[in-house]
Amino acid sequence: PTVVSLRDVGKTFSSGTTALQHLDLDIRQGEILSLLGPSGCGKSTALRIIAGLGEASSGNVAWAGGGMDHSRDVGFVFQEPTLMPWASVFDNVWLPSRLKGVSRKAARDAVMQALDSVGLTAFAQAYPRELSGGMRMRVSIARAMVTRPRLLLMDEPFAALDEITRQKLNDDLMRLQAELGWTVVFVTHSVFESVYISDRIVVMAARPGRAFAELIIDAERP
Ligand code: ADP
Ligand code: ADP
Repeated sequence: PTVVSLRDVGKTFSSGTTALQHLDLDIRQGEILSLLGPSGCGKSTALRIIAGLGEASSGNVAWAGGGMDHSRDVGFVFQEPTLMPWASVFDNVWLPSRLKGVSRKAARDAVMQALDSVGLTAFAQAYPRELSGGMRMRVSIARAMVTRPRLLLMDEPFAALDEITRQKLNDDLMRLQAELGWTVVFVTHSVFESVYISDRIVVMAARPGRAFAELIIDAERP
């Protein structure tokens, strides 16, 4: 099944810059889909439109089963973890999560479960400055997953990390996706990374005005 479909989506900013043209994209439940392309080709713009953080100028974005609630249905992981430095790891995962309407215990359990998934149970009371870059990124993944979103959007999440940490996090992401059945859209400019982690890769052309998704590799995962 398809989680969200984009049809002929375009985006022109008020500055006059056209960031996207004629994007057709179906995101299938349970896959890791990479959006691969050079800087400036419109990957972040596409992701923000899917997240509801920006409006498309043209075209259509349709969610399966009708509407979506941005704060619950979509988890967003940015390149910079943007953690609150004054808050503990636990609070960084809990505070933005909008785990409202659930009991304190249920919220606490959800946070601890997310921290367990990313291997940071022992660091719940630590502060971001006490963590390595890779650990901070894992906190940010826990924060994005705590409401069990239908879709996890990751915008060059590991680009600022060293190669070894990055490789570990790629493996962690693949393991979690397989275990928890996540649907992930992963933006990267790394061919290696996209080939390594993805079920499907959509390659975006460097310049708007050219064909948009020039190549789709459909890999059957064992
Ligand atoms: P990518 O993520 O592939 O690097 P972006 O989606 O960030 O590409 O940007 C695509 C194009 O849109 C670029 O030319 C960028 O400068 C432009 N752009 C992005 N955001 C804005 C904005 N808020 N206002 C004006 N232009 C923007
Ligand atoms: P990352 O790959 O996430 O950046 P590192 O392997 O660089 O983490 O670890 C940084 C330090 O934190 C190391 O001393 C490591 O042993 C410790 N560390 C990382 N994750 C954990 C964990 N889940 N439990 C205990 N110690 C950890």
